[in-house]
Amino acid sequence: MAYTGLALEVDLSERDFSEVNISDKKYEKYAGVIGVGYEFATKLYKKKMDPFGDRNFVIFCAGLLVATGVPATKTTVITKNPLNSTFGPGVVGGRLAHDIKKAGYDFILLRGKSDDPVVLKITPQNVEFQKAGRLWGKDIVKVTETLKKKEKGSVVAIGPAGENLVPISIALVDGIHHIGKGGLGAVLGSKKVKAIVVRGDKREMTIFDREKFKEYSKILREKILADKLRKIYSELGIMSAWDAWAKQGYLTYRMRNKQASAGMLSEFGAEKYLYRVKKRSIGCYGCPSPCKAEVNMPGGRTTKTSVYLGLAMSLGIKCGIQTAEEAVECHDIANRLGVDELIFSELFDALVTFKEEAKIFEDEIGFEISRDAKSVKTLLNLIAYKMGIGEYLAKGMDGLVERFGEWVKEENDFIKNMDWVFDPRVSFGSESFGQLTNLRGGHEGPVTITVLEGRSEESLRRYVRRIGGDEEKIFENGFRAELYTLATENWLWVLNGMGFCRRESIARNLDITLIKNLFNTSTGFELEEEDIIDGARKAISLARALNCKEGYNYSNDLPPKKFFEPLKVGSSKKVLRNYLTGKEISEGEVLEMLRNYYSERGWGRDGCP
Ligand code: SF4
Repeated sequence: MAYTGLALEVDLSERDFSEVNISDKKYEKYAGVIGVGYEFATKLYKKKMDPFGDRNFVIFCAGLLVATGVPATKTTVITKNPLNSTFGPGVVGGRLAHDIKKAGYDFILLRGKSDDPVVLKITPQNVEFQKAGRLWGKDIVKVTETLKKKEKGSVVAIGPAGENLVPISIALVDGIHHIGKGGLGAVLGSKKVKAIVVRGDKREMTIFDREKFKEYSKILREKILADKLRKIYSELGIMSAWDAWAKQGYLTYRMRNKQASAGMLSEFGAEKYLYRVKKRSIGCYGCPSPCKAEVNMPGGRTTKTSVYLGLAMSLGIKCGIQTAEEAVECHDIANRLGVDELIFSELFDALVTFKEEAKIFEDEIGFEISRDAKSVKTLLNLIAYKMGIGEYLAKGMDGLVERFGEWVKEENDFIKNMDWVFDPRVSFGSESFGQLTNLRGGHEGPVTITVLEGRSEESLRRYVRRIGGDEEKIFENGFRAELYTLATENWLWVLNGMGFCRRESIARNLDITLIKNLFNTSTGFELEEEDIIDGARKAISLARALNCKEGYNYSNDLPPKKFFEPLKVGSSKKVLRNYLTGKEISEGEVLEMLRNYYSERGWGRDGCP
């Protein structure tokens, strides 16, 4: 079958490992791997467990269709996130999922804690617990390069931020692909796991009906190869969206109160990226649309980035670094240290804005801070090593409240102590409403065609039909963003569960029927489209139930005040509006939308399953 039916369970405390058989029924029930992963999580969960305690777990789930010949690349990771005690998943590309599958597993479960720093080496039928030795303390890129010199396979590594239990830390796969926003780096650090090397072999996945599966794979491959977006992504990545994002008002700083200037937009824009910053394209393993890149730093050095737009928006616009090359250098430092640069830049922006508004003073910050690369580098290091003000910022916005007092809460626009990317005043679709319901906290909802305003009702309806959403309900009396979001979340979890990338150069060539056909012919199950969606719904409810056990309910999904303040874009002021009808939406109506969303998911009015 396309799946292996096996999980590798690694007990770090005992330095032991075992294999766990998984029944076919579970893969059928969840139509993918994520629900199975959350069943493991539910079983291992202990109430209010310390994210840094030995009871916390890390579960890597390799997408079901990875290593079957289709361009599926994704691994989903589940843990208790130390930044906010949620259990929302992280998703990563690269070659990791491929290596997990080819090592013989769909899942890798880490439990317990090692006494000393280790590098785990996972190969078919074996796990070695190697001493991390001098690698402990080293940055992620160095560790990855060192391990890659002697080992084949994928490397998941943490940096000093993870070792020092910084809740805004991440891990990196192969020194480029970010994984685990919300503090996975710190969870691995608490378990003294410096790196995990996973090496597969040449085994072939069994495919239930290879001939038919090949036919459906061919349809998908031909569609992707013929898609003009593939060429655009291969050249520009999601920088292709830069001009439209700028025009519609997404690119802001000073705590979302000021739009990026013309100078900033051109310094970090698509043209500069293509002709001066980008050196070459990089992609996840086997992806026909490589959207990542090797990029130039000052002094002729280079580094890698998975989303240049993210670094341009965060380090360029929000932090105000002057040149693109300097921003790339700061991105490289954040990666090496293992600090999440998106949350970092929101915190940096808040700190500098508070200083500019004389709400806090330089002696309280502890160094001369301004919007430049030097200050960014200083603060990144202070956070990674939890020194001075960095000890507080390591905890996200909650840390700023702890350091400066309750007044910061008034200014705080984080969602579940996590930054968010998509301003709902620009466009109120799945990416912005979904920031409220995202199981991991703010960040973003599923990015779909509503990311830009002005799509026609017909194109939205087409999109909803393609992903298997409930067209009738979503367009009842106009457009119900909450139900549209729900449909797109289900779709995203279907994609992730299969291992497919959500980037439109891949995802828009898929539809729910093609996914059903790929799933059925590779596994031998006979599911319908509704069953595939239902598998994702079940997985989402399992994840939500874990959050609820930690005390989360509807009150944590309420929007920040910022959603209801006008956003100045050029000479106009944008407010929260219905995507299609343009009717202004009040705070009370957003609460009502949340209630509708819960009810449609079959959850209680408190937002819990
Ligand atoms: S399009 Fe998706 S799978 Fe391909 S390189 Fe980009 S992120 Fe990876």
